[in-house]
Amino acid sequence: MRIIKVEFFFSFFLLLLISLTDSFGELNKSQVSLSGNDANSTQLKQEVIRVIKPGVFDYQSQDFMVRMRVWGVEFPKREQPGYNEALTFSEQKLLSASPKIQIRQEFDLQNLKVVEVTIMNGQMNFSREAISLGIGWHSEKESNRYGPFVIAQLKAKRLNLGIWANNFNYKQIQSPSSLPTPRLPGMYNSQRSFVPSLSFWVTTFGKIHRPGCSFYQRGRGNLTSKPQGLDCRICGGRNSK
Ligand SMILES: [Zn+2]
Repeated sequence: MRIIKVEFFFSFFLLLLISLTDSFGELNKSQVSLSGNDANSTQLKQEVIRVIKPGVFDYQSQDFMVRMRVWGVEFPKREQPGYNEALTFSEQKLLSASPKIQIRQEFDLQNLKVVEVTIMNGQMNFSREAISLGIGWHSEKESNRYGPFVIAQLKAKRLNLGIWANNFNYKQIQSPSSLPTPRLPGMYNSQRSFVPSLSFWVTTFGKIHRPGCSFYQRGRGNLTSKPQGLDCRICGGRNSK
């Protein structure tokens, strides 16, 4: 009995060790390229299929599509000066080259996957380029004052590039990393709140994922607005995290 127990713990420890080693390997790999043949959850290949707005895009992988937001940079909103430039910049940089994607955060509060994007064979960091040209500004809170972005922004400010050429207060509108305010407060009070756009992905194993989760629409399952099963621990399933 005792031996069995020991064996059990040992194999558990071994599994833990293997999974740890795997995730370290993942980090290194993702910095180089994500176009390998390994079939795991962070495998991302193919291309950017559309730019939704500056820094936000849809990424088409072999069998799933993920909406992503570029890490560490914020851009002018539609009604703010510099929006068109930021959109054009995003389209030119993201749609032309095949970008390399590194996941920084599984989801932000808008259920977007937050990623670091490098293009031109890893020579150009999208966020840093955008900041250094004054196309967008550094989101210091999100990047935790990431040095290269700090320096890029200092240069852009000194040269009065892009957004720094005018004195517009961009921060007056919410940053993408802050909580969204409900636009229809009444909706949340009603017992039968009707949210037609939100459909969950329920796998054949009964795991519930919400849009934006890396497991959303992966493998076998169904889309439904009335899911039954176990909520995913990563995305929260029925309960947004
Ligand atoms: Zn999930």
